[in-house]
Amino acid sequence: MSVSYKDLGLVNTREMFAKAVAGGYAVPAFNFNNMEQLQAIIQAASETKSPVILQVSKGARKYANATLLRYMAEGAVEYAKELGWEKPQIVLHLDHGDTFETCKSCIDTGFSSVMIDGSSLPYEENIALTKKVVEYAHQFDVTVEAELGVLAGVEDEVCAAESHYTKPEEVIDFATRTGCDSLAISIGTSHGAYKFTPEQCTRDPKTGKLVPPPLAFDVLHEVEAKLPGFPIVLHGSSSVPQDEVDTINAHGGKLPDAVGIPEEQLREAAKSAVCKINIDSDSRLAMTAAIRKHFDEFPGHFDPRQYLTPARDNMKKMYIHKIVNVLGSEGKAE
Ligand SMILES: [Zn+2]
Repeated sequence: MSVSYKDLGLVNTREMFAKAVAGGYAVPAFNFNNMEQLQAIIQAASETKSPVILQVSKGARKYANATLLRYMAEGAVEYAKELGWEKPQIVLHLDHGDTFETCKSCIDTGFSSVMIDGSSLPYEENIALTKKVVEYAHQFDVTVEAELGVLAGVEDEVCAAESHYTKPEEVIDFATRTGCDSLAISIGTSHGAYKFTPEQCTRDPKTGKLVPPPLAFDVLHEVEAKLPGFPIVLHGSSSVPQDEVDTINAHGGKLPDAVGIPEEQLREAAKSAVCKINIDSDSRLAMTAAIRKHFDEFPGHFDPRQYLTPARDNMKKMYIHKIVNVLGSEGKAE
């Protein structure tokens, strides 16, 4: 039996993105695959009254079970209300849907938004697949994110050896023919905690830390000029905070030369037509850093609540920081 997201208290991205583009901020899209992550996301969004997108990847569905995740998202809406957020603006979104069937299954089970990622397909095949998903999704007022251009790095099964920036000359044709509601573009962001090789970076002479190459803002501005006001999405936009990486490495971890997207650049992008910024790795790092530190300090602890409590607190702190200081979405869902 199928269920509509509207009955679960979720919303789609249409109005959310229109407000974000007009208001010069971006909505956070945080991935989740476990309870502590979801609690931290909902607490952060509720306290800051920020619209939020809960993202579920194919890998998360496999890890946590698709049915369970769906009910967790339903529970998240009620939890937000309990925390005093009267009208929660929460989207349940499929991240990197790879087939029509996966998207359909999500739409039929309560997702309010799906991504169909045909970016690795030839252009015309990407259009055909995206259009098919859009036609199905729009019958149920579910919004669809598509992708044009290929990101470097690995996220679940989506893998690309090298990055191919989105071609601005293709975006009008693509958006018009597919009818998609938002478009993920490639301007130099990348999935994972190793977004750039040391060779692609320069080194800060003072700290010895890697400085990544800047995002291709010229490509972003060209896309904006072609599609004024059209919602643009950035994937792979974790910043890989150095203090979390240092904490991990100081407590037995090994993440040499992990590097992300500087927050100043994301702040800049959020002011443009970029209205959804995807953050996953930073949550993983915040959780792992807190747990490693805790294990080092309290070797006798073995109750998961003892180490998952600081892990959850650390993720929540990171989410609030992104909302307030990077994306500018605080108070946009009062
Ligand atoms: Zn992605």
